[in-house]
Amino acid sequence: MLKAVTRCLWSNPVAGRRMMSHHIPQNLSGKVAIVTASTDGIGLAAAEALGQRGAHVVVSSRRQANVDKAVSLLRSKNIKVIGTTCNVGKTEDRDKLVNMTIEQCGGVDILVSNAAVNPFFGNILDSTEEVWDKILGVNVKASFLLTKLVVPHMEKRGGGSVVIVSSVAGYQPMQGLGPYSVSKTALLGLTRALAPDLAQSNIRINCVAPGIIKTRFSAALWENEGVLEEFLKQTSIKRLGQPEDIGGVIAFLCSEEASYITGETITVTGGMNCRL
Ligand code: NAP
Repeated sequence: MLKAVTRCLWSNPVAGRRMMSHHIPQNLSGKVAIVTASTDGIGLAAAEALGQRGAHVVVSSRRQANVDKAVSLLRSKNIKVIGTTCNVGKTEDRDKLVNMTIEQCGGVDILVSNAAVNPFFGNILDSTEEVWDKILGVNVKASFLLTKLVVPHMEKRGGGSVVIVSSVAGYQPMQGLGPYSVSKTALLGLTRALAPDLAQSNIRINCVAPGIIKTRFSAALWENEGVLEEFLKQTSIKRLGQPEDIGGVIAFLCSEEASYITGETITVTGGMNCRL
């Protein structure tokens, strides 16, 4: 018994460590992929994972300086990439992003809807109408409208794949993050609501729900050691997730290997309990 416990404690720190493979299949070559909010964190890792598999990637975020930096970083890794500014909450920006992709890349096969905002932290009863409009507008409505915008172009290519980035908070609302959590639950519903209609056009739509991933967005959760410790108690794998842990799963969902998966959410949480 004691031996088993010791073994468990010893093995835990290395559990779930990623074994880097040097051979990445070029199973997305010829594909064009739009990734929103892709100049940092999970979006940038998704762009890199798709690009490493041969896709021509279109990166975007609100700030031109961030776009320029992401484009040069990905080019330095031999990834085919273009970029533009796009605040996904703005109709004209979404139009610009898709039009530029069609003009410069000749079509679109993959959409990763990754952008989200959280302008509110506190008791949910203190959240205002403006907070709700902003959170639902950017996190949920823009994901739908962007999907709707790319569908006719994917149909021209004979099909496609959409991946929406939700969150573990969509399963279990996080304290202080009520409206944000609700928006992430809505994305699980959006994925399932769209799947049957998109399947008729040979378009798959799936969702990824990350746990706590080490990015700027989640800094408040991992910079404080006490808070971090509380979160790690809920995971089986005793470390924070890295953006790359999510990027590869997104690339898998976009690939032919996932050709029979649609309307699904993959939780990538190091073993946190996720149920609705
Ligand atoms: P991050 O590292 O802070 O990166 C955020 C990115 O979003 C930046 O490139 C930022 O660039 C861009 N951005 C912000 N607002 C935007 C908008 N309105 N339109 C377009 N781009 C925008 O964040 P992250 O942690 O990777 O988060 C990405 C997604 O993962 C979000 O949907 C988030 O909810 C989800 N998620 C994160 C975690 C986590 O623990 N980190 C867990 C679960 C889910 P600009 O400033 O230039 O716009």
